[in-house]
Amino acid sequence: MTHPISPVPEKPTPAMPETFQGLGIADNIMASLERMKFTKPSPIQHRCIPEGIEGKDLIGIAQTGTGKTLAFGIPMIQRLARYKGHGLVLLPTRELALQVDESFQRIGGPIGLRTAVLIGGEPIGKQKRQLFRNPHILIATPGRLIDHLEQGSVKLETVKILVLDEADRMLDMGFAPQINKILLKVPKERQTMLFSATMPVDIVKIATHHMKLPVRIEVAPQGTAATDVEQEIMIVGRDQKKSLLETLLKQYLGTILIFSRTKYGAKKICHGLAASGHKAAEIHSNRSLAQRKEALEGFKRGKYRILVATDIAARGIDVSNIEVVINFDLPDNTDDYVHRIGRTGRAGKKGRAISFATPQETDEIRRIERLIRKPLKVTRPTGLPATTPFARVEEDRPYGHSSASRGSSQGHRAPWKPSGNRGHSSSSSSSGGGWNRKPRSSKKW
Ligand code: AMP
Repeated sequence: MTHPISPVPEKPTPAMPETFQGLGIADNIMASLERMKFTKPSPIQHRCIPEGIEGKDLIGIAQTGTGKTLAFGIPMIQRLARYKGHGLVLLPTRELALQVDESFQRIGGPIGLRTAVLIGGEPIGKQKRQLFRNPHILIATPGRLIDHLEQGSVKLETVKILVLDEADRMLDMGFAPQINKILLKVPKERQTMLFSATMPVDIVKIATHHMKLPVRIEVAPQGTAATDVEQEIMIVGRDQKKSLLETLLKQYLGTILIFSRTKYGAKKICHGLAASGHKAAEIHSNRSLAQRKEALEGFKRGKYRILVATDIAARGIDVSNIEVVINFDLPDNTDDYVHRIGRTGRAGKKGRAISFATPQETDEIRRIERLIRKPLKVTRPTGLPATTPFARVEEDRPYGHSSASRGSSQGHRAPWKPSGNRGHSSSSSSSGGGWNRKPRSSKKW
């Protein structure tokens, strides 16, 4: 039976090209790629860019870190430059919005691309001024876009290309009503590109109702964790997590991203680390947008070696050189495991993910193993008293692969390297009408 959202059969995957040549990318965008020193397309880029440039509707099933931003960004920027009209990228979090904007500016800034980022937690007046400059592309979280629609500061009648990024996460966060409202406001005649790490039934419904014969492009089987990430589970009593964390922080000397299940937990971990002399920052929904930006920028630039995050705040964190992701708590939602570990081992780099699990969490581990379709390595933590209950738990474990890798986490010491200093994004400006006015063409476009 044909998949309901894949009436157009997938083309056989041609061999991965070594360059961006031959994908239909315009010369001025090729020049930006060259400046960014991106020489080889990632698999999702290789598959999506030619289809996107042809104006087809796409469903990309890809996790973060696969290069999906440019997989939709290049076609969007190129088509809008050629055919006019506006672009709208809807995504779940402010952090992801800022990072998508940064990528778009790096590619499109040199050819005159103007963007506006419409996210909560920022003064709406500043965003209205950005809109007045007639940006080509809006990058928005659903809630704030609805605020602008209600206040009349934006109209979506000229949207020619719509991207729904991290669509599964938007639905998980309860944005379905806002997305439906927005979908009613954008013209039916448009190109739609939907990206999601997983493909739950609600996403299939959106695709069936709001997309035209979308081409489905999946670069890794659904739920597959980044292949370049070495993963292990450490079984640990709740009250021993802190000392295990301290041990690991001595063992791994690079950048570390720690996940906590709750915002209170994140705050507690971060304060504990700071008190013991670590350079750590926290990112969760109890922090203001300014504090979150400062934490993320500080982490990117090497001011903080450690970032402690909750799942929602961490969406879209794009920092290269994260040496280890530590799951201080297992995620409530099993899918988040894949998103979390996708933060390390990005863009072809090797990574490592270490998850703390209590002796009671065997079911959770089994669910993760089912999702990633492979058994996880269970490691006995080093540097903790031998009286801890791990041995008993390991023997009890139903997976039958528990002791294979004891102590394997040692010997992976990397010198502390601050991550690269990235260009700061900004929505460039020029004179122009505004999103609630008739669009004007701009010089370079
Ligand atoms: P994304 O999955 O879009 O968040 O991208 C993950 C990271 O890979 C980002 O830091 C991108 O800048 C980087 N990246 C994307 N495409 C390429 C490429 N073709 N070559 C090297 N790095 C890339």
